[in-house]
Amino acid sequence: MKKDDCIFCKIANGEIPSRTLYEDEAFRVILDLGPATKGHALILPKDHADDLYELPDQTAAAALVLAKRMITLMKDKLHCQGFNLVQNNGEAAGQTVRHFHIHLIPRYEDDGQHINWKAGSPSGEELDAVKAQIVE
Ligand code: 5GP
Ligand code: ZN
Repeated sequence: MKKDDCIFCKIANGEIPSRTLYEDEAFRVILDLGPATKGHALILPKDHADDLYELPDQTAAAALVLAKRMITLMKDKLHCQGFNLVQNNGEAAGQTVRHFHIHLIPRYEDDGQHINWKAGSPSGEELDAVKAQIVE
């Protein structure tokens, strides 16, 4: 199902033109208009889901298989040295478009990008408490 007023629904379903790298009945893969690096692409399901929580399992599985296929092709064509897959859920995580998508970000030696976090240094007790909060 498409959602009214969702720009990625419109792009995924061809109502707004995009630089499409791949399309099938369930997905469109497009070039990001604000690329982190050359070739930065987005996998968009054609059916709307706000985020990964809402995405049907079958679509989630197919999206990762498609990601694998796309980065294999793009690695060969772009001669990049690595790939980051980024998938943001929620504003706090940096999601700006509320339609599930996976970023495929080719990485090149010395491309100047930083897709990193600052490592914390919790105590063993703190890690135990986090674990207990999640699974006990
Ligand atoms: P998010 O921050 O939600 O994970 O990522 C949204 C991404 O969508 C950003 O990288 C942004 O550059 C890209 N983007 C936003 N609007 C458009 C658009 O209209 N067309 C394309 N191709 N990319 C878009
Ligand atoms: Zn949508």
